[in-house]
Amino acid sequence: MVSEVIKESKKIVIKIGSNTLSNEDGTINETFLKELCQQVSSLMQEGKQVVIVTSGARIAGIGQIKKWSRREDMNYKQALCAIGQVELMSAYTRHFHEKGIHIGQLLLTREDFYDKTRTLNIRNTLFTLVDEGVVPIINENDTVSVEEIKIGDNDTLAALSASLWNADLLILLSDIDGIYNKNPKEYEDAVLLEQVENIGELLEEIEIGNTNSFGTGGIATKIEAAKIVNRYGIPMILANGKRENVILNLINNEYKATLFKPVL
Ligand code: ADP
Repeated sequence: MVSEVIKESKKIVIKIGSNTLSNEDGTINETFLKELCQQVSSLMQEGKQVVIVTSGARIAGIGQIKKWSRREDMNYKQALCAIGQVELMSAYTRHFHEKGIHIGQLLLTREDFYDKTRTLNIRNTLFTLVDEGVVPIINENDTVSVEEIKIGDNDTLAALSASLWNADLLILLSDIDGIYNKNPKEYEDAVLLEQVENIGELLEEIEIGNTNSFGTGGIATKIEAAKIVNRYGIPMILANGKRENVILNLINNEYKATLFKPVL
């Protein structure tokens, strides 16, 4: 099913979580980023359009300035994001340029999605960039909004972006293969749920555990993201970005993931 859904989708939003984007020591995982850009490039060659929603600015900030990693004050977290965002985008630029692809940066806040003029402007920019073969890269504007740092880790932003752009599919790349009946990091016998059609029932059946070091949203915000996009008839796949060439190999049925299927 996962393979078919990706094959059938033309407009795909891919969200990269902080844990996927960073190494254990907090530096940007360049191997992952290079591979991601290669995968996006081959999807585009097949005629697909891709929008990226990326986390990881704070971690990139820590990697760059090598201090403040333990500071809990919001202004320092925001300062780290301001520093890291530049680093993050320059890493994306480098890897996409190797494939001859230009990128465009959109820094948004959740409030932007509730204002008519702003949504129109966002939509026009997105459509123009994509039509011209440029890959839009969206992140939360952490200087004016602290939502991502507090909750969400961009899962909601990715869902809102997918809905606004009328995407055919949202893919969330995290560090687990999908949703389990309980936290796979805590329980070895956790069972992967490959397809979810009823999110209400899912919430009654599973146990939501803690997130790990760099993650902020955890599994709850991923389920919320599925709720948002499914409401618009957009399917969502939660997959493991740590796996080799994850998107292309999901198409080849090499890996398992969770598909949140909208009930139409
Ligand atoms: P990201 O940074 O990729 O957005 P997070 O770290 O915020 O991801 O959230 C993913 C984490 O949620 C997983 O690594 C896992 O440890 C945790 N988790 C808790 N409960 C579950 C569950 N029922 N199924 C899957 N993952 C879970």
